[in-house]
Amino acid sequence: GRKFCVGGNWKLNGDQKSITEICKTLSGASLDPNTEVVIGCPAIYLMFARNLLPCSIGVAGQNAYKVAKGAFTGEISPAMLKDIGAEWVILGHSERRAIFKESDELIAEKAEHALAEGLKVIACIGETLEEREAGKTNEVVARQMCAYAKKVRDWTNVVVAYEPVWAIGTGKTATPDQAQEVHAYLRQWLTENVSKEVAASLRIQYGGSVTAANAKELAKKPDIDGFLVGGASLKPEFIEIINARQ
Ligand code: 13P
Repeated sequence: GRKFCVGGNWKLNGDQKSITEICKTLSGASLDPNTEVVIGCPAIYLMFARNLLPCSIGVAGQNAYKVAKGAFTGEISPAMLKDIGAEWVILGHSERRAIFKESDELIAEKAEHALAEGLKVIACIGETLEEREAGKTNEVVARQMCAYAKKVRDWTNVVVAYEPVWAIGTGKTATPDQAQEVHAYLRQWLTENVSKEVAASLRIQYGGSVTAANAKELAKKPDIDGFLVGGASLKPEFIEIINARQ
């Protein structure tokens, strides 16, 4: 079985005060032991959050560069994330792709390096509204997966997050059927292009306007193995999302 995995992506939000509050809430909550929890925290607060959270909750960088060190002003490396106790990194988020112009290839190189450094990777993919309306959803997610697959040899430490761009921060969630359809396609793609074993074992999260109100229905779908949550991960309802399968 694939262990349910729920990530909170705080994006560019939080300060010491609010992060202390969220970490207190998470530490005191009774969380489903069958769900893995990962907090994607702004890099500058990662060590702070790591120290406030129990070991059972992982922390993730929201980005990391493709090399360990050097003359790359403003960047952080997987080695640095490891050094401060982070176990994970989120890569290829649609905001990195759209706003910071990260290519499929750069993202895949980042994933390759992060995995080599011993981090676990939440590898994001997802189509825009325009691409969906043009009937190109499968083509787009296949292209994004293909780029990862060129660089990733061992998928053990990878979780894929399917996040349709039109559902991110819009309040427009994919219906459970819409999400399931893409997740099932991704498993088919993995069967054909990677292996049956990886297709069966790789966890695929859904992301995009997940809330306590819609998480339970989404979590019932056979190929949805967790969530990557933005806005709602900053609120107490995140606990309910973590426990969506209970
Ligand atoms: P929202 O949950 O705010 O739509 O964001 C989803 C997301 O981008 C998580 O990475």
